[in-house]
Amino acid sequence: MTAPRLALALATVALAGLAFTAAAQADDGTAEYGSYGGAEYGGYPAQETEPEPEEEPRDPPPSEDLPEPREEPDLQRPDDDGGRPVLSSFSVSTSRLYLYGRAARVKFRIDDEAELVAVALDVRRPGSSVAVRAIDLGMRATGETHVYRLTGREGAALPEGPYEVSLIARDPAGKTLLATPRASAVDVVAFHWHRFPLRGPFSYGDRDARFGAKRNGHTHQGQDLIAAEGTPVVAPRGGVVAKVDFQEGGAGHYVVVDGAGEDDTYVFMHLVAGSITVREGQHVRTGRRLGSVGSTGASSGAHLHFEIWDGTWYGSGKPFDPYPLLKRWDGWS
Ligand SMILES: [Zn+2]
Repeated sequence: MTAPRLALALATVALAGLAFTAAAQADDGTAEYGSYGGAEYGGYPAQETEPEPEEEPRDPPPSEDLPEPREEPDLQRPDDDGGRPVLSSFSVSTSRLYLYGRAARVKFRIDDEAELVAVALDVRRPGSSVAVRAIDLGMRATGETHVYRLTGREGAALPEGPYEVSLIARDPAGKTLLATPRASAVDVVAFHWHRFPLRGPFSYGDRDARFGAKRNGHTHQGQDLIAAEGTPVVAPRGGVVAKVDFQEGGAGHYVVVDGAGEDDTYVFMHLVAGSITVREGQHVRTGRRLGSVGSTGASSGAHLHFEIWDGTWYGSGKPFDPYPLLKRWDGWS
């Protein structure tokens, strides 16, 4: 029986918006490389000590949920095919990926008579035959599980949107990868540059909550998001914590984050006393918890006062209405 001669791309995963160039990283097989804050976060040192909750994990993880692959003699032992490398597993850990956020873990295992095979990830728009990026994963050992941490910043940041990722492999004899039914599943992963700053139910409030609303002696410089006390406040974009402070007659307990790779600065006010989990100068990832919605300072009820500044907060920057961006982010996070 002749095994079907599939072309290169085997395991196809729909990714959503990643930028890739070659990012070959040696690893020892089962070890995860691009550790927290390392390759995954580019130039940002790993300073976060507190483990974060998984970012909307795909449930159930395909690699752990699916039954063992059916015996497919032609595929598993393609003797008549000269022993092509076989893709035994392929999965992506999340369906949502954020720029400067937690990396997606791409797990794969290839079995072959050869000990090493050349592996790459191919990234393209769904339905497109043109690869947007190819990530060279180098020579990988067969017979063991590898994990590649996909950030969407391989090369330069990909535009937002969906992408397909395919695993490509070739053994020393030039034979290409053969998929198994289990390993050819398609996943969809959305890639975004920002996420909504709250994790939990909220409302945008009334006109008085909007940017530009009249206040005593000034105008409102942000958007109020009404939410229950204790609702997690998270970084819409990774970056550096520029300020953690307390202002009794105004902001209460507040945090300022300088967004990475962009000019915007984010401000979060009225947080619960003692809830702030970051410190000034700390590098944080997109989605990182900063604190909890509260009502400290000049506040009459639990809410997040959220500002975005184009430029430095109270430096050369200017605040602008964050509402359109919040509505947009709310659409996917
Ligand atoms: Zn406010």
